Amino acid sequence: LQKTSKLRMTRQRRVILEELRRVTTHPSADEVYSMVRRRLPHISLGTVYRNLEILAQCGEIQKFESGGSPRRFDGNPAPHYHIRCLGCNRIADFPVEVSLDFSDGQMDWAGYRVTGHRLEFVGYCPACAHKIPES
Ligand SMILES: [Zn+2]
Ligand SMILES: [Zn+2]
Repeated sequence: LQKTSKLRMTRQRRVILEELRRVTTHPSADEVYSMVRRRLPHISLGTVYRNLEILAQCGEIQKFESGGSPRRFDGNPAPHYHIRCLGCNRIADFPVEVSLDFSDGQMDWAGYRVTGHRLEFVGYCPACAHKIPES
């Protein structure tokens, strides 16, 4: 909260944030770029990349890497889980409660200081599910 108020909101940064928060598709930087360009036709891809990184560092958005595919961005900064389609790589919010809290170091183990966790559900989205051959 302290850190968000310190972030200077340029017009470009605000538009990027607004566009990202309008969708729940967890777009890549390239996809954010084409969304933002509808409103800011002269913005560069580099500017979009840079602002996405800054917004993620400030906790306004989340970024996550999934395997070898390009990093994706999430306009929802609150902790929540995701499901990734193994057929088309689509990522959606998965509505199970985030109940684990590592903030007090209760999960520290073997010299590791545990600061958080990641859990990704995988499966097939509605568009891909019917294409999977039954085994
Ligand atoms: Zn799919
Ligand atoms: Zn999400």
